[in-house]
Amino acid sequence: MAQLHSLRDSFAIGRVFGIQIRVHLLFPLILAFVLMQGLSQPGASMGDAFYLIVAVFMLFGVVFLHELGHSLVAQAFGIQVLDITFWPLGGMARMAELPEKPRVEGLVAIAGPAVNGVLFTAGLGLHLILGLPLELNTLPGYFVYINLAMGAFNLIPAFPMDGGRILRAWLARSKPNRRDWVQATAIAVNVGRFFAFLMILAGTYSCVLALIGVWVWWMGARELWAVRMKHKAQRFYDEANYPGSEMGGSTPGFTPEDLQKLESFRGQLKGFGRDKD
Ligand SMILES: [Zn+2]
Repeated sequence: MAQLHSLRDSFAIGRVFGIQIRVHLLFPLILAFVLMQGLSQPGASMGDAFYLIVAVFMLFGVVFLHELGHSLVAQAFGIQVLDITFWPLGGMARMAELPEKPRVEGLVAIAGPAVNGVLFTAGLGLHLILGLPLELNTLPGYFVYINLAMGAFNLIPAFPMDGGRILRAWLARSKPNRRDWVQATAIAVNVGRFFAFLMILAGTYSCVLALIGVWVWWMGARELWAVRMKHKAQRFYDEANYPGSEMGGSTPGFTPEDLQKLESFRGQLKGFGRDKD
């Protein structure tokens, strides 16, 4: 997932493979809410509370491994991973630059769901070998279920979710069917909007799903804008390394607002123009 937080909203808890691990300030609140809800059920015991805590930590352990999958593949391609943040809707690996290479983007995107696939297979295999019945209300059963659900959900082609990134990579794949990166992004974003719309419709059933739908819609639009701007800005990068930098913000074709928005994407624009197939 892409970024939707600033560093001020989260705190660092450690470092793995050189990647800072952060927790969003809302995260402990959600945790407390889940516990309070669980414990307010009639007949709830300390055992239930323990189960809930372990289940929540297991869920976020799996989220962490999913994000680590993205991060390690990105690092293997020389992409700097800034941090992994836990926030209420899941995890997020933030990268210094988004490569415009279909193969790299596709492999980085698929690595997360692939981790879930491996964990799901291992969990299910252990159940079969040990002859355990697969029950959702046991921790081993829950482990199998969350890996299936997380892997499958992230493969929905709702750009900028993993499935949407895989779709864009496929649309922009090698010749002869190669599409321009901007065009591939625009198609992926439109497909994403369709799924975002469905998720928002499903909001009557699941509030979290509606929130993710809004996130998909908003972040898709934001990234499409960034990709368009990036390509529009290319010749200015070639000439002046940054649009407006040499011209006091009066770059033709860019409003001062555009330049300000571009500034906020500057980290992701690093290395632009040297990152071609
Ligand atoms: Zn992912």
